[in-house]
Amino acid sequence: STKSINRLLDGLDPEQRAAASAPRGPVCVLAGAGTGKTRTITHRIAHLVRSGHVSAGQVLAVTFTTRAAGEMRTRLRGLGVDAAQALTFHAAARRQLRYFWPRVVGDRPWDLLENKLRYVGQAANRAKLGTEVEVLRDLASEIEWAKASLISPDDYPAVTARAQRDIPAPAAQIAEVYRTYEELKNAAQVLDFDDLLLHTTAVLEEHGTVAEEFRDRYRCFVVDEYQDVTPLQQRLLDAWLGGRDDLTVVGDANQTIYSFGGASPRPLLEFTRRYPDATVVRLERDYRSTPEVVALANRVIGAARGRPAGSRLKLIGQRPPGPEPRFAEFDDEAVEAEAVARRVRELLDGGVSASEIAILYRVNAQSEAYESALTEAGIPYLVRGGERFFNRTEVRQAMSALRAASGDGSSDLVTTVRSVLARVGLTESPPAGGAAKERWDALLAIVELAEELAATVEDADLPRFCAELDQRAAAQHPPTVEGVTLASLHAAKGLEWDAVFLVGLAEGTMPILHAGDDEAAIEEERRLFYVGVTRAREHLWLSWALARTPGARRNRRRSRFLYGLVPEDHPAARVARSQQQKPSTPAKTRCRVCGGPLLETIEVKLGRCGRCPSTVDEALLERLKSWRADRARELKVPAFVVFTDATLM
Ligand code: ATP
Ligand code: MG
Repeated sequence: STKSINRLLDGLDPEQRAAASAPRGPVCVLAGAGTGKTRTITHRIAHLVRSGHVSAGQVLAVTFTTRAAGEMRTRLRGLGVDAAQALTFHAAARRQLRYFWPRVVGDRPWDLLENKLRYVGQAANRAKLGTEVEVLRDLASEIEWAKASLISPDDYPAVTARAQRDIPAPAAQIAEVYRTYEELKNAAQVLDFDDLLLHTTAVLEEHGTVAEEFRDRYRCFVVDEYQDVTPLQQRLLDAWLGGRDDLTVVGDANQTIYSFGGASPRPLLEFTRRYPDATVVRLERDYRSTPEVVALANRVIGAARGRPAGSRLKLIGQRPPGPEPRFAEFDDEAVEAEAVARRVRELLDGGVSASEIAILYRVNAQSEAYESALTEAGIPYLVRGGERFFNRTEVRQAMSALRAASGDGSSDLVTTVRSVLARVGLTESPPAGGAAKERWDALLAIVELAEELAATVEDADLPRFCAELDQRAAAQHPPTVEGVTLASLHAAKGLEWDAVFLVGLAEGTMPILHAGDDEAAIEEERRLFYVGVTRAREHLWLSWALARTPGARRNRRRSRFLYGLVPEDHPAARVARSQQQKPSTPAKTRCRVCGGPLLETIEVKLGRCGRCPSTVDEALLERLKSWRADRARELKVPAFVVFTDATLM
């Protein structure tokens, strides 16, 4: 019905609608964060299906992270097109390979390689290279880069020399490790992640009948986050298309964050060169974030260097005003994490739900301080939010235990599931925290799923439940676990939360130390920071610590990306551990800067004076006063608040 089709498009602005309702054929949406790219493509899929151009099953939508794929599936379900597949490149390839393998190779598909470093280690040993974990990691990521860039071991030395690539060992030795690694892996009949894409591409390129069958099955392709496509993924995409042009791509070159892994925004930016008839749409209205967050995002990316043409898009905020983003500096990571946990508690008490809060960091190792602070505060959290739920050890154990038990013909369902899961570690009450608590939460989520099934399906039994679990595992549709999300910035791409904490914004972490002074690497870090800022709908907190552990030398500097956002000469907002622990002093009644009534007494340690660390001196206050007047206006930054823990944010 035309009416329902039009109603579908009602939720889009005119530019989005143009992209969503464009006829079949190539479509490209180039736009900044939060402008509705993902929304546009999900609506486009629904529109193509409802207007009868394709059936939902003929659509294949791909993106780059499991969470982003999950988000897309949720949105497609909301639009009534569940049958459209939304997967990561790897998941799509894995599924296709599993299907084609018996016919093409015979037998069942090879298993996925669980521990890549083992083979890299053996190969490095043969090449007489070091086998320390760091060395192996560097070698492994170099091999990944080469495979994603479609560079063979033979070509590796020449290509890296030509590109003047900064590599972790002599090129000839890396090539040897790469070659041996491939041999070992093939001998063991296992596949790494890149092999999934390589083999699927090869099957489609070399087996005409298989390719024909595939192309009959899938007719319409959609790629979200296209700015992060690698040559290998592009090759697979081309194999899928097989010369057809029913392809919709959306992306934002400013959010390219995987170029270290071989990704490039070039296919996005040069889309029209390849498809001169493509419908091209640019979006600039930002529907996600408050104007305050949008202004900050524009400043962050405005400072970027060497932006390719076509990426200089400015975001225009559409939402009503909200709170100013807040900046805070701490003595060490533990106080930073405690303060974040306290602020999270306030948000929860204020009615923000836990699943609408995220704490984002540069490297996964940073999660530890936050896990313990949240545990201490009794706040539920999930690390990387359900990503790869079905790959978790305890979930796999639980599923095989349930499968084993389902032959027993046991009855009602929830009690059985509980007792089976008790055997794989589900205790009555949750363990104190950390990884054990996470495992417990994952098991509990399975019980809750059983409860859900029991409540909705009559006579739901264990075999039925196992089938449901298998189906969810195949569709990568994990049960929801309520909690604050802890995630790396890379994993946060494409997602959004009401409140976002960007933590650990100190030099060495953001940008990461190994970016060194390589401009391209620093710019990629800046884009990563931009991705972080643009995840927030409303509350945005940016913080950093001057030392890693309590009592360590406070020799860290705030991130260079904060220059211009937080003026360097400002006596930064600081919370010192020593002061937090002191009882608050009696309230003064008048503000010492302007004489106005004091609402609150704030104990601060201003500046970094070595002699009088706890004295607020008049000269400093004068500086603060004139800074506020001059700089705040000039830089259009939020009037800077001097925090104690009580007034943080
Ligand atoms: P990113 O680059 O971060 O992936 P995006 O461009 O894909 O961002 P979406 O996630 O699609 O942006 O949209 C951001 C938010 O704005 C979502 O909550 C979406 O529902 C909302 N939104 C997008 N377009 C509109 C619109 N026309 N009207 C109302 N809300 C919208
Ligand atoms: Mg998106």
